[in-house]
Amino acid sequence: MTYQYWNPRMETLPRAELEAYQLTKLKDLVRYALRTPFYQKRLHQAGIKDGEDIKTLGDLKRIPFATKLDLRAAFPYGLLSIPLDEVVRLHASSGTTGTPTTIYFNKEDIIRWTGFVARSIYATGCNKTDVFQNMITYGLFTGGLGFHFGGEAVGMLVIPSGSGNTTRQFKLMQDFGTTVVHATPSFLLHVEAKMREEGITRESLKLKRAFAGAEPYSEDTRRRIEELLKIDVYNSYGLSEMNGPGVAFECQCKNGLHLWEDGYIAEIINPDTLEPVPEGETGELVLTCLCREATPILRYRTRDRSGFYTEPCSCGRTHRRLYRITGRTDDMLIINGVNLFPSQIEEVIMSMKEVGNNYCIVVEKEGVLDRLTVKTEVGPDIFMDDARPLNALKERIRKTLQACITINPRVELHESGSLPVSEGKATRVQDNRPKDV
Ligand code: AMP
Ligand code: ZN
Repeated sequence: MTYQYWNPRMETLPRAELEAYQLTKLKDLVRYALRTPFYQKRLHQAGIKDGEDIKTLGDLKRIPFATKLDLRAAFPYGLLSIPLDEVVRLHASSGTTGTPTTIYFNKEDIIRWTGFVARSIYATGCNKTDVFQNMITYGLFTGGLGFHFGGEAVGMLVIPSGSGNTTRQFKLMQDFGTTVVHATPSFLLHVEAKMREEGITRESLKLKRAFAGAEPYSEDTRRRIEELLKIDVYNSYGLSEMNGPGVAFECQCKNGLHLWEDGYIAEIINPDTLEPVPEGETGELVLTCLCREATPILRYRTRDRSGFYTEPCSCGRTHRRLYRITGRTDDMLIINGVNLFPSQIEEVIMSMKEVGNNYCIVVEKEGVLDRLTVKTEVGPDIFMDDARPLNALKERIRKTLQACITINPRVELHESGSLPVSEGKATRVQDNRPKDV
């Protein structure tokens, strides 16, 4: 097989040169970080007062880890390193409520990010003759605009269809001869089921490839989508704190995700000891973003579980490959691609006075999509045999939750004292989705 490179020099840079490049970029990043209130204090405490205080890549370890909580505490501008009038865009993590983790970009940051997305798309064999339907949420979530501009940079015809509405998605695919789509793996399975339901034949579509990401899925799920839709599926990994998509992506070997090491420095740590794990072992992925000036973030604890393949890839790229992400080291749930912390649900329902003390969250598969059910007890003053006020309350809880978590849950009301009380550490989340990852 012949492999195409978007940026041949950088994608095949010998490791020693790649690391030297990382060091230069890291020094620059520290210089930007020192301009932010958040990092000025942290870096000074670590004895780092200038980029030149970073002498080797090993010096990165002198810098403390950053967490989502840190980023929230720095809201709105604690991590901004440039004057506001140089900022051209902001994005935020999907499904976040309360104080969001907001990332700012200057013009150059957007260009660099777009370059990494274009590189990722090109590595799967796409080119300017492709028609790309971006079936993912546009807006604050980075998957929409990130892939959109990456696709345009490759020269593809980009259809900004956004997520949902499968009937319209089929129409677009047929009208414009879509050859490649981007979606969550669960939406791809949903598309396939709908195709059968609506009698859309595979032959009426020109589909060849899909980029699937934003949520964990197994190799079996990938194969299932590939067989059902007769396409190649490539795993796409990214997170808003590291710009969005284009952090790590599968090449045509489909065997691990190349992490673009000229844009990001990766560490794998044991989430309990915070020490690096031995090479090849799985742990928590920690990332430093070398390609963004406006919002410098160093050693970000992604909470995603992964590790690195030790052998090189046959495509010739020198950037190491991540294992498929197998889950999280915190309690964050991903429901059809949208992030959700159980605490967000608690905040909403516990602020409603008619709601009792106990609740639980159930996540399951309904068909191929995720379904969230919030079961909550009603307060002792509410009578369970009076249906009208109960239904009104249920609807109010559902609407309030949907507004806050951007997911439409099913709500069940239970009599006061009837939900099982968890002993010791509350286990309020039942994730009944098949664990095939
Ligand atoms: P966001 O910041 O909203 O883009 O969410 C980023 C999170 O989505 C990551 O930290 C992962 O937990 C998850 N995610 C993104 N891509 C993948 C993928 N390919 N496989 C598994 N999880 C993913
Ligand atoms: Zn490869």
